[in-house]
Amino acid sequence: MIERIEQLRAQAQQEIAAAVTSDAVEQLRVRYLGRKAELPQMLRGVAALEPQQRGEVGRAANEARRALEQLIGQRAAELDAQALEQRLLADTADVTLPGTPPQPVGRMHVINATMRELEDIFLGLGFTVLEGQEVETVHYNFDALNHGPTHPARAHTDSFYVREPAGHATKQTIDVKAGHDSMRLGAPTDLVLRTHTSPMQVRAMQAHPPPLYVVIPGRVYRPDSDATHTPQFHQVEGLAVDEDITLADLKGTLLAFAKTVFGDERDVRLRPHFFPFTEPSVEVDVSCFHCSGKGFQADGSRCPLCKGEGWLEVLGAGEVDPNVYSYVPTTERNAPGYDPEKVQGYAWGMGVERIAMLKHGIPDLRLYFENDLRFLEQFG
Ligand SMILES: [Zn+2]
Repeated sequence: MIERIEQLRAQAQQEIAAAVTSDAVEQLRVRYLGRKAELPQMLRGVAALEPQQRGEVGRAANEARRALEQLIGQRAAELDAQALEQRLLADTADVTLPGTPPQPVGRMHVINATMRELEDIFLGLGFTVLEGQEVETVHYNFDALNHGPTHPARAHTDSFYVREPAGHATKQTIDVKAGHDSMRLGAPTDLVLRTHTSPMQVRAMQAHPPPLYVVIPGRVYRPDSDATHTPQFHQVEGLAVDEDITLADLKGTLLAFAKTVFGDERDVRLRPHFFPFTEPSVEVDVSCFHCSGKGFQADGSRCPLCKGEGWLEVLGAGEVDPNVYSYVPTTERNAPGYDPEKVQGYAWGMGVERIAMLKHGIPDLRLYFENDLRFLEQFG
């Protein structure tokens, strides 16, 4: 009987060592240690043996069972580890395979990109960026900017007036100047889509005492539509008010802008002009970057960009008209306001579309708003 136990043990050991799958090991466990297997049967039969045999046979059978259980456990663990290893090897990601192409991401529209560029330039010169509302009161859009009651820009054909829905009372927080012809509170013509970013000049002054250095980017609206006009366009307004500010400061500021946008070689010149809210007023030209201001190209032909002028008109500007300060006798916090005897300032308004057209050689204003990706993808 002892011999049989040793025989079973040796045979099982051999087969366990030779098993190459977890399934095969499991089958061996059933064959040698299962309920109907020979070795467990012998153990169960120990009680029926002669007393002098019981101890020896029982010990040998128990020992053999424990040894086989241990061997089977070890072999199963080895095979599991091998299987895992193989799976890991087979599943290794092939880093040389091309990946899924990334979805194309959007980009900033050329108008927004240009506006950001302009903001950055003036931030660098010490200005603060402000934004204003697009639906503006007639007071801020015209009156406070010195547009007389008969100014043509006020005509219904030249501005988009906004009618308030019935039942909505206008919340007028502004200081209405008594006797001013255009202030007809409650009438539909009290609101207008701002025709320029300039209304924020007075709003900014009301909010902050001098000195004040702000730029105001934003959308503006006028009912024009052709190759060089769209009903909605963009401006970047600038306003600087301090003591002892002159046109020379304006010129220096705009020269820094022109060099950054159009190149280091650029120059600016100021030509007399008229705007209602600046006095004196100027048109500002930048020397042509296409012909370096010569007016003609290398082959002697007329420069197509500046039409032979050597200069490109880029914006309007001027010294703030003292009348505009009279709309801000005190700021909103009742601090002393803008005394024309003490402060001076300059302001400008530039068309973002025009700056981008000049900079990128864009021929038609309408291209900006047609949303043709072949056009838009060239910028930003
Ligand atoms: Zn030119």
